[in-house]
Amino acid sequence: MKTKVCIIGGGPAGLMMSQILDAKGIENVILERQSIHYVNQRIRAGVLEAGTIEMLNDYGLGERMAKEGHLHDGVAIAWQGYDQFLIDTKKHTGKQMMAYGQTAITEDLYEKRQAAGAHIFEEAVSVQPHDVKTGSPYVTYEKDGETHRIDCDFVAGCDGFHGVCRQTIPSDVIKTFERVYPFGWLGIMSQTPPLEEVMYARHERGFALASQRSPMLSRYYVQYSARPCRGPSFKRTTAYRA
Ligand SMILES: Cc1cc2nc3c(=O)[nH]c(=O)nc-3n(C[C@H](O)[C@H](O)[C@H](O)COP(=O)(O)OP(=O)(O)OC[C@H]3O[C@@H](n4cnc5c(N)ncnc54)[C@H](O)[C@@H]3O)c2cc1C
Repeated sequence: MKTKVCIIGGGPAGLMMSQILDAKGIENVILERQSIHYVNQRIRAGVLEAGTIEMLNDYGLGERMAKEGHLHDGVAIAWQGYDQFLIDTKKHTGKQMMAYGQTAITEDLYEKRQAAGAHIFEEAVSVQPHDVKTGSPYVTYEKDGETHRIDCDFVAGCDGFHGVCRQTIPSDVIKTFERVYPFGWLGIMSQTPPLEEVMYARHERGFALASQRSPMLSRYYVQYSARPCRGPSFKRTTAYRA
């Protein structure tokens, strides 16, 4: 098979890229390792920044988001020992955020792409880009026990941090910007009505976030130490930057 852009990864980035390329008349193919059903069930993000809302609207993906999403004027900050306050981004920047689950965005994107007759190959395993430094790269993958090859002008690596593309970029070309924090987040999804606002909290035992997905679905996070626990005197409180 031959195409202009071979997109590896059918998550939000790969699907959105396919939608944009299609709108500009540029042929593309998506290779996704998982089944579409699996990708659509994967629970992840829920809060969209203004730029993302704008981009989804610009490319015809705003209809369901406008009906089911929940607009926010800002985020609430709860800081131990102080009154809670709202950072009113709408007032100060004219921009709002939206609570609308990544699962819903992914569903919308697959629906649009499939309706447009996009070439999407799900459950494509052993995906491997080749000759990426040349003007005629190609990608191989296996499906149903057969090996396939896609010749293209560009390979778009949209397969996330652990995907194959990052490893394929030659070490003299790749630039990595990374900051490793000594803590992580424990995320909990709960079928309860969320707080009115997305709330970031700073406490002497660390960071907490009350986020939301829908009127009946809340997402909570608490900080945990990535180091062995040294008892209750844990004082690191920089997690609010995460
Ligand atoms: C718990 C959690 C909460 C989050 N909350 C927010 C939030 O509130 N707001 C926000 O903006 N962001 C949030 N994020 C981040 C957001 O989910 C990611 O930025 C987003 O998923 C990135 O999309 P992506 O398409 O680049 O990568 P992914 O969603 O990781 O998609 C990559 C795709 O590539 C596929 N793939 C991987 N390897 C291969 C391969 N070798 N061959 C073929 N396909 C492959 C994967 O199956 C996957 O479908 C959150 C993330 C997590 C984990």
